[in-house]
Amino acid sequence: MVERTYFDWNATAPLRREARAAMSGALGLTGNASSVHAEGRAARQLVEEARVRVADLVGADARNVTFTSGATEANVMALTSALEVGGRRTLRDRLFVSAIEHPSVRRGARFPAGDIKELAVSGDGVVDLAVIARSLEGSEQPLVSIMLANNETGVVQPIRQVAEIVHAASGVLHVDAVQGPGRIDCDIAGLGADLISISSHKLGGPQGVGAVISRGDIHIADPLVKGGGQERGRRAGTENVAAIAGFGAAAAVAKTTDVARMAFLRDRLEEGIAAITPEAVIFGSASPRLPNTTLFAVPGVKAETAIIAFDLNGIAVSSGAACSSGKVQASSVLAAMGVDQALTRGAVRVSLGWSTTEAEVHRFLETWKLLAGSLLKGRRGIAA
Ligand code: PMP
Repeated sequence: MVERTYFDWNATAPLRREARAAMSGALGLTGNASSVHAEGRAARQLVEEARVRVADLVGADARNVTFTSGATEANVMALTSALEVGGRRTLRDRLFVSAIEHPSVRRGARFPAGDIKELAVSGDGVVDLAVIARSLEGSEQPLVSIMLANNETGVVQPIRQVAEIVHAASGVLHVDAVQGPGRIDCDIAGLGADLISISSHKLGGPQGVGAVISRGDIHIADPLVKGGGQERGRRAGTENVAAIAGFGAAAAVAKTTDVARMAFLRDRLEEGIAAITPEAVIFGSASPRLPNTTLFAVPGVKAETAIIAFDLNGIAVSSGAACSSGKVQASSVLAAMGVDQALTRGAVRVSLGWSTTEAEVHRFLETWKLLAGSLLKGRRGIAA
């Protein structure tokens, strides 16, 4: 069997050892976290411990953490016109989202299509603060959703400055922080965000669990999933105790990641790509980026071909977003950045993680040298 190298951490990360242990412990329990007996209380305790750990990861109050089925649900839940601000129910009149958001945000969630406005980004993949300020003029109570870091390019957005603009316009800021934990600072107060979404499986917990977290006294006034009173009435349904426990365990160790080492390996990888294929374009490289992500393309090389060739050589990479259909589609993120469509079709995303080794980066580059040599055969000589 070919040895595998997993370089698709932005799609999902491997389960942390700590998460696996917490989950197997939880699976051995029987109680429903809402039951008052000892079995129920034991389940409740796991949920509440996890809530504290997830809250700590982003510097929030545990009471403001609502567990969901993932970040998609967290995003959809957060993007509603009905928000409680300072104990008062308000109605948000417009939703503003950047053009590079995850589809769960870009589609506007619970807002009617006519009330959703898209905010352009620069060629470097960053939101334009002047555009945001101008767009918010005339909106009484806007809700703005800007991601912390883009899942395809890794470009980190200036959330702090966005928050100032949004708050000056009496707005509420939601931040899809899914790609942040364990890579960059995600402190909710530091970001100035009012609501954030995170996902367990991007930080080493299981898939199918996430959280929407609020800062201070801003709350979602209308639940997305209505029914029983779980999660303080904010999200009905019996809690997925094992998944939540795994999420909590992964959140507790997320900050132990050696981010400087990750950045070093990513930089090595990019230097290697540039040496082998000097014509390679690395998207968003002029902007601040996550320490683990590289999205690149070489004119004349299709992403599908490269990805399949990498896969056959034991390396898992992807083409920008891992879309649910499994199809390789042209990236809307790169389109929003004004990248030429032909080049967009060649975009390959390489994303590293906490256990990535130098040997794996070396292996990737050796493979790229071979692949680029054959994929570009006849077009030019390949630099050694
Ligand atoms: N937002 C971003 C930026 C993401 O990368 C993803 C996952 N691809 C999501 C939201 C959705 O998260 P989940 O898989 O937990 O629904």
